[in-house]
Amino acid sequence: MKRYEQQELYVYNSLTKKKEAFKPIYTGAVGMYVCGPTVYSNVHMGNCRTFLSFDLVFRYFKHLDLKVRYVRNITDAGHLENEGESGDDPILKKARIEKLEPMEVVQKYTVDFHETMAKFNALPPSIEPTATGHILEQIEIISKIISEGYAYEINGSVYFDVNKFDKDHTYGKLSGRNLEDMVSNTRELTAQSEKRNPQDFALWKKAEPQHIMNWSSPWSKGFPGWHLECTAMSTKYLGPQFDIHGGGMDLKFPHHECEIAQAEVTNKKTPVRVWMHTNMLTLNGKKMSKSTGNSILPNELFTGNNTVLSKAFSPTVAKFFMFQAHYRSVLDFSNDALIASEKGYNRLMEAFRSLDHITASESSSFDVEKWRQSCYDAMNDDFNSPILIAQLFEASKYINGLKDGNETISQSDLTTLKKTMHDFIFDVLALVDVASEGAKDGNHLSGAVALLISLRNQARANKDFATSDQIRDQLLEVGIQLKDGKEGTTFSTN
Ligand code: AMP
Ligand code: ZN
Repeated sequence: MKRYEQQELYVYNSLTKKKEAFKPIYTGAVGMYVCGPTVYSNVHMGNCRTFLSFDLVFRYFKHLDLKVRYVRNITDAGHLENEGESGDDPILKKARIEKLEPMEVVQKYTVDFHETMAKFNALPPSIEPTATGHILEQIEIISKIISEGYAYEINGSVYFDVNKFDKDHTYGKLSGRNLEDMVSNTRELTAQSEKRNPQDFALWKKAEPQHIMNWSSPWSKGFPGWHLECTAMSTKYLGPQFDIHGGGMDLKFPHHECEIAQAEVTNKKTPVRVWMHTNMLTLNGKKMSKSTGNSILPNELFTGNNTVLSKAFSPTVAKFFMFQAHYRSVLDFSNDALIASEKGYNRLMEAFRSLDHITASESSSFDVEKWRQSCYDAMNDDFNSPILIAQLFEASKYINGLKDGNETISQSDLTTLKKTMHDFIFDVLALVDVASEGAKDGNHLSGAVALLISLRNQARANKDFATSDQIRDQLLEVGIQLKDGKEGTTFSTN
């Protein structure tokens, strides 16, 4: 029996504002799309919070034996600053500042994003498509929307007609906004724009001469509007309707609202069953954000190189800190909170490691089966990681009691306890035991250096001093110093 048949998962749907029993369109398989980063700068911890939350979702689905196709795009064109239609393209701006080709900027920050996600032990998505790799698909969708009568061309640009759409669909249902209110708030802007209405959004923009990232289209040499890429790539890889679409709360409007409108016109059905939105990571009570500079970068955290930090923190502690809050709650980043999380994380790892030294007895003084199910219940309740962690601490208390001889456990419960702890800590939360990883690295290193020491001894015995010196000198170059003493050769690292 598959695990998903034994568990009942509920997911909060931002569209209906309710927790709903999660039933994938195709039994046993999940299609999930998450908006990826706009790659013009290093991802900050806020971005990481969103991507790690969806890594948790991805991993829990996999743990439940569901087959998941997880699509997370890279935005490498079209995302203009200030949500405006006349704003700057931040990738082009960065390329000008750094004197790089725009695609060099894209490559540099895509690599940084991947490296950062790997440090956090996050899985790569199943497909990671780029906006620039899907220009043809986007052009096709625009043609379709025009032929359906929901978009108009003006001066080589194409805009989605929100008013027309709102007449026979509902615009604003995800963000809870209504078009009339939006119109009355923005009336004075109409005159400055070529759009018929300030609410209309760009599907295609004619490129100004300095906008060097541009493509040919039936309307002009230009580039697609940001919202369009997600409709094109989600439809292409997950079909006209799929199970889950995610992103940060700040993408609900206008980005996701526009995606719904585009897809409803193109595919004649609403694209997404469940919309999931993560809440913001804040710093000093304000949203972490690239543009305001109110942010902490992952590398600053890993090195301690930021004035808000008293020391360095490992990626796994940072992740543990983030998972101690539910993904739909605001979380404020602080040095004190990280220190507390580090203590908690160490306690949990210590308890897990000591499981190897527990001996079983006749019966258990703790209901391990019930505890196991409560770990699942926590995750089944809209991926409630803080409750899951509280359950892991419950088990740690019990393990400490076992160590002290104040509690007992049967052999079969001990096996269940170990397996469940392992599954949730390493597969679902995907934490890393830094101490034992370090010990493993240490073992590899000492094994390799021992081999080199013995080769050096052989060389010396053969009077091949060139080789023996080469071994010593080259090790020194990589920071490993050999010391010859009475007891033989030892080494130290710097
Ligand atoms: P961007 O690269 O700006 O498109 O953002 C990538 C993802 O990070 C989006 O899903 C955003 O909603 C999310 N995001 C941006 N800032 C924060 C924050 N402070 N906390 C959590 N998620 C964020
Ligand atoms: Zn998107």
